[in-house]
Amino acid sequence: MSSEVMLKKYFPVVHTEAAYIDKTYKILNKAGFDADNAIAAVDVCRDEISQPLVALIREKWGEAFNLCSLAAMFFAGKTGLKAAMNHLHVVGGKERYVFYALPHIAIGAKGQLGVCKRTGRTEDSNACGALNVFLKELKGGQLNLSMDNEDVELSLIRVRLLKEIAYGRVPDLLELTKITLTALREDMENALKKTVDTRHSDYAFFTGIQIHAPDGNYIWPADSYLVVKGKRKGLNF
Ligand SMILES: [Zn+2]
Repeated sequence: MSSEVMLKKYFPVVHTEAAYIDKTYKILNKAGFDADNAIAAVDVCRDEISQPLVALIREKWGEAFNLCSLAAMFFAGKTGLKAAMNHLHVVGGKERYVFYALPHIAIGAKGQLGVCKRTGRTEDSNACGALNVFLKELKGGQLNLSMDNEDVELSLIRVRLLKEIAYGRVPDLLELTKITLTALREDMENALKKTVDTRHSDYAFFTGIQIHAPDGNYIWPADSYLVVKGKRKGLNF
């Protein structure tokens, strides 16, 4: 099956990256957020094919705080969030933050999960590479769960994602990407609860999956919401 058919099958609702960022900006604009009074913070994979989304966020919101890790796992922690928040100018006694958190997956021309082409390379490549490594280890039944100081982020990925997977189960790459999304969302929400003072800060939290299709990048939006004066409101796309 073609990538287009598979894209629809796996992700019924998708937006181009530009349309997605545009929508998020417009939604928040109506709630009083703009490039002058808000700071964006981004958590996507370190992979270069994930970076066009960061560029679009920068175009709309100005320079964004970088919370990225391999597979977009949230390893920046409370210290990372506090740093992002301390870099903001306070406007009218109010602080506004915009968080984007999206792991990624590729879909090949024949609809294969995880397969992509990279500029200047003829052979197939894959994304997310870090999740692929972890998945291979799961399939092989051999996981080293000790901290490898020469491979810190992958060590953290193994331990964190295993908490979300039933013992002995091996998900496919799509399921693993969704599991990654759940893990990074929970970790970031937990850190947000402990660091954001909602008495004088409003924030938006956008999650989803970044998809690399042969004709460009897309976003599948997942749980997203706005917190104004401590009250949470769901955002639908
Ligand atoms: Zn990746």
